[in-house]
Amino acid sequence: MSDSAHTLFISDLHLAADRPDISQQFLSFMQNSAPRAEALYILGDLFEIWLGDDAITPAHDVIINAIRSISDRGIPVYFMHGNRDFLIGDEFAKACGCKLLNDPCVIDLYGTPTLLTHGDLLCTDDVDYQAFRAYIRNPQTLEQLMALSIEERIAKGKEYRAGSQAANKEKSMEIMDVNQDAVIAMLREHNVSQMIMGHTHRPQVHAIEVDGKPAKRIVLGDWYEQGSQVYADASGCELQKLMI
Ligand code: MN
Repeated sequence: MSDSAHTLFISDLHLAADRPDISQQFLSFMQNSAPRAEALYILGDLFEIWLGDDAITPAHDVIINAIRSISDRGIPVYFMHGNRDFLIGDEFAKACGCKLLNDPCVIDLYGTPTLLTHGDLLCTDDVDYQAFRAYIRNPQTLEQLMALSIEERIAKGKEYRAGSQAANKEKSMEIMDVNQDAVIAMLREHNVSQMIMGHTHRPQVHAIEVDGKPAKRIVLGDWYEQGSQVYADASGCELQKLMI
């Protein structure tokens, strides 16, 4: 791969204490790949769980410092919340030197307006999940969560996780994927023909059509078995696998 001016996108690393290999892979990505980019976008679920910026551990500091080393070079780093790390706040952003993005948002990617979203908003067939999301992401609920002790938040997290795991067992793969009408509606609403998302762990470039015009939905992969990135430059976007 040539090293022209390019932008990198990653998501769904699900960094966790019990998967040090993935953290290691992220650190190596931040050391070797990220410094060559002109911007880095992290589109959610960087962490398996985030209990709040007041619960930062030494293991988190290693990750934060790796991000900081990129932003300190003058390479902008952008972060969008996922459904696992939606409690990331301004303190984390400040420590990393990154900018928090709204979900969804539209950026100018080398002349192509591109919509960025974590992706869970598009899984509209999963009605129970959308109801839970609306509740948990409500500013009032977030405030209540942050008012709990860290131990209480851990317990809440386990409770929510058990509930969603039990519910997901009953759901088909189709229900937990994006709804095609929701995808088209979001592209139409923002008047764009390209989107980059994560969340579903189904890395693929989907060619679709919106009002008779070609559009593209690029889905990043998770970092369970291997890494995944979107490499974007003036010639377009490429979804790439990163070998461990
Ligand atoms: Mn997700």
